[in-house]
Amino acid sequence: IVTCTDVRKSFGTFEVLKGITFSVRKGEVICIIGPSGSGKSTLIRCINALVPITSGTIHVEGIDVTDPRLDKLALRRKVGMVFQQYNLFPHKTALENVMMAPIHVLRQERSAVEARSRALLAKVRLSGKENSYPGELSGGQQQRVAIARSLAMRPDVMLFDEVTAALDPETVKEVLVTIRELAEEGMTCMLVTHEMGFAREVADHIYFTDHGVIVEHGPPATFFTEARDERTQRFLSQVL
Ligand code: ATP
Ligand code: MG
Repeated sequence: IVTCTDVRKSFGTFEVLKGITFSVRKGEVICIIGPSGSGKSTLIRCINALVPITSGTIHVEGIDVTDPRLDKLALRRKVGMVFQQYNLFPHKTALENVMMAPIHVLRQERSAVEARSRALLAKVRLSGKENSYPGELSGGQQQRVAIARSLAMRPDVMLFDEVTAALDPETVKEVLVTIRELAEEGMTCMLVTHEMGFAREVADHIYFTDHGVIVEHGPPATFFTEARDERTQRFLSQVL
C-alpha cells in the first residue's frame, strides 16, 4: 500500500534522507524508531507530500507521490496523518472538528457526516465530549479527537508522528489504546514512536533509522533481542 524506493531528501546541502527503501502492506503496522534528527518526521511528511523529495519514488495505493501533477487531495483522502501537535480548531467543538473535512472537503451531506462523526468519537472513547471545545479537553482527549478527525476521511493508511510525545504519562496510555484498536481492526499504520513497549506490542515490523538511513529492521520478536548493528544496540540500551 506504501512503497518507498531509494528516497532521498536534502534541505540545501544537508541530506536528511539518504536512500530509504521499504514498503508497507495492507493491514500492516510498522514502527519507525531512531535518534532525534535521524529523519523520521521528514520521511513521514514525504509520504503525505508535505515535503517534496529530492530523488527516488514513493507510491501510495497506486498514486505516484512524486508526480508533478499529483492530486494532493486524492492522496490526502488515502493518507491520514496525526502529529505531535493536535492542531484542532480551538473555536470548534470536538464534533465540529471531526465533521469539518467531510463536509467542506468531501462535500458530504451534513446529517450523515454528523452521525458518522459521533460514531468516530465513540470509537476513540470520547462519547459525551462531542460538544467540548479543545481547551476543555486533556491532551490525550484532544489527540483522540485528532485521530477521529483523520479517520473521518476514511483513509487507507494512517501516519502517526510521535503522537504521544507531548502528553502527560497518564494520558499516553489512552491514546495508545486507541491506536492499538485501530491496528487490530486492520488499519494500515506507520508510527514514529519512542514508546518501545508499545512498538514491541503492536508492530509487525520495526525500522531503526539513523542519519537518514535504515540501519536495521525486523519483526519485534527478533529486533529487540537480536539487534546486530552497534548503533541500534546503543539506541536500544538507552531507551529500553
Ligand atoms: P525527532 O526525533 O527529534 O522528531 P526526526 O527523526 O523526526 O527527529 P526530522 O524532523 O526528520 O528528524 O529532521 C531531520 C533533520 O532534518 C534535522 O537535522 C532537521 O534539522 C532537518 N530538517 C527538518 N526539516 C527541515 C527543514 N524544513 N529545513 C531544513 N532542515 C530541516
Ligand atoms: Mg520527528
